[in-house]
Amino acid sequence: MAADGERMGASAQRTLEEAAQRADALRQEIERNTYLYYALDAPEISDAAYDSLMRELRSLEAAYPQLATDDSPTKRVGGYVEKQFTPVRHAERMYSLDNAMDEAELIEWMRGIEELYGHLPALCCELKIDGSSIALTCRGGLLVQAATRGDGTTGEDVTANVMNVKDIPRALRPGSLDVAADPDAPLEVRGEIYMPKASFEALNREAEAEGRKPFANPRNAAAGSLRQKDPAITASRDLATFLYAISDNAALKLKGQWELLQWLKEAGFHVNPDVQLCQSREEVLAFCAASLEKRGSLPYEIDGVVVKVNDFALQDAAGFTSRAPKWAIAFKFPPEEKTTLLRAITVQVGRTGVLTPVAELEPVAVAGSVVARATLHNEDEVHRKDVRVGDTVIVRKAGDVIPEVLGPVITLRPEGALPWEAPKTCPSCGSRVIREEGEAQLRCVSIDCPAQALERLLHWVSRDAMDIDGMGEEIVGRLVEVGRMSDVADFYSLTEEELACLKMGRTNKEGEAITLGHTVAAKLISAIEASKERDFARVVCGLGIRHIGKNTAAQLVEVYPSMEALKDASEEELTAVHGIGERAAASIWAFLRTPDNVDVINRLERAGVAMAAIRMEGEDRAQTLAGLTFVLTGTLTELRMSRDEAADALKAYGAKVSSSVSKKTSFVAVGDNPGSKYDKAVKLGVPVLDEAQLKAVLDTGEPPVI
Ligand code: AMP
Repeated sequence: MAADGERMGASAQRTLEEAAQRADALRQEIERNTYLYYALDAPEISDAAYDSLMRELRSLEAAYPQLATDDSPTKRVGGYVEKQFTPVRHAERMYSLDNAMDEAELIEWMRGIEELYGHLPALCCELKIDGSSIALTCRGGLLVQAATRGDGTTGEDVTANVMNVKDIPRALRPGSLDVAADPDAPLEVRGEIYMPKASFEALNREAEAEGRKPFANPRNAAAGSLRQKDPAITASRDLATFLYAISDNAALKLKGQWELLQWLKEAGFHVNPDVQLCQSREEVLAFCAASLEKRGSLPYEIDGVVVKVNDFALQDAAGFTSRAPKWAIAFKFPPEEKTTLLRAITVQVGRTGVLTPVAELEPVAVAGSVVARATLHNEDEVHRKDVRVGDTVIVRKAGDVIPEVLGPVITLRPEGALPWEAPKTCPSCGSRVIREEGEAQLRCVSIDCPAQALERLLHWVSRDAMDIDGMGEEIVGRLVEVGRMSDVADFYSLTEEELACLKMGRTNKEGEAITLGHTVAAKLISAIEASKERDFARVVCGLGIRHIGKNTAAQLVEVYPSMEALKDASEEELTAVHGIGERAAASIWAFLRTPDNVDVINRLERAGVAMAAIRMEGEDRAQTLAGLTFVLTGTLTELRMSRDEAADALKAYGAKVSSSVSKKTSFVAVGDNPGSKYDKAVKLGVPVLDEAQLKAVLDTGEPPVI
């Protein structure tokens, strides 16, 4: 069920020898990590990165069946039995689950199920708890033994430790064995043992304070806590369980999974409340989508949804493969980490001349979107991470966070891969590159650098600055190439005619040069015209002054609402503005005294660009939200507003809007697919507003009542 072609592109065209070498290297690396993970509970790479290596090996073995080996890690359930624990043979084998890596694979599986039975039977959907499997044996209604999954056939006896897990009953509730086929026979109850996110974080904070190695994730923390030699240590850890199965369904006179979950609850076990008995494909898909959305807000980790044929008789008819039941599937959420190939490290020149190394990756789907590039920030970062061209690297993208290269899988490094060397000259203009003392960034010293000019122009038209719709990189790039533009004032002398005739450097089928045309040109001219009335803070931000971004520009403009006033301010006065440090003050002061910049500002003013704050709608409103700080996260779907628009509307009532959550935050307003800010709000106990509550605030201007 693994998704083939995880890495898109050239990876398929390997010679057999290359494929064999790669498969071998992957197997060794997977084996090493399996040992680190299961035996030592101390993985070096994340589960997602491990899965990614496993998927690559699986697709190699599928593409080159002659390379498959009997002892390949792709054929195993996973898990080790450590000698320090007594081995326990499971009453019935503990299987793994097959995976559906995306909706298409899940639909495919459901289609197969429908074919198998001649109709789609009821499917029981449960959350896939990201913990460690546990098997609890009860005899005569009393808990007598607990074991890990181990290799599926034999696990480890962890009874003494499990007796310290608070939510596991020592005895079944009276009457629960009334449905047992034989009340005296042993009964093996199965499920997942996990550590809540908050307890995991507390445990790691404690470990760090005491100089111990932290756990990589809650799952390893749970497994590690369970496999302690000293049960007192397990007792000190916050572990919890969700139970969802028994080893032999015939042991109880129940018809299916749904009834079993009810029985487990009545018997006194903890059962996850998020279950649904679905009658159609659509219901299953909706449950999966809703669970993915819920993922971040649950107090424990989940990594997918398990879909099970509900009826036990139908389950028996389907049976098992060598490693997993055919009647169930794990729909895995898009992993937030993947491995891929680092093809090259290029250098991007920013508008202030900063040189940024960028990882050019073999495109890979991470957390639902394709990642082909990721910033490596600066020279020191590249060396600290020790990423080299040709490396297999781990890429992470969580929620709405920018993709990040975490580091290389060292053992898969090709021979001869060299450490990256920073350029000595600017890749755009060939000028000298310097690194100022105390700075991490390399910088191009030339003021005529075309890459810097392009970036400055793009910054001016960007959404945070003048927001000139339609004026993108391709058009601005062409205008620079043809020598029509060199600074931001040049936008305002463009005519519709010359834009319409601008050749885009491409040809049509007939070999004629493609031009922008009148429709696009007219739209651009009206967008440029509209930009003349933008708020003055946007102009200040758009000028691209070093150390002055969107927020600092807004703070400056609050005190100095016109270019006149800004020019008159001394460096000292500028430093006194809230949010403006010495470096920013020195930078803006010098900028406004550089003749070239003064010339650009004068030309902008002559063109009609507003050089003073225009009274915003709502400015006269009562400042009913003064003193409150809001943070916005997620997409405001119901409000049909961008976060910036909502922020402006809140500010009009005097509220502050911040980009990060702290104890001082008054409210966090949450839209669809919220990011980590939501988790942080929950952690810090900051009140959370949904879209309806935010709407009420915007409509009335009244602070929310929680
Ligand atoms: P994997 O370890 O990725 O092969 O996934 C299979 C494992 O998922 C099982 O062995 C269980 O430990 C675990 N799991 C978590 N939640 C559930 C659930 N609701 N139903 C079945 N298995 C689950």
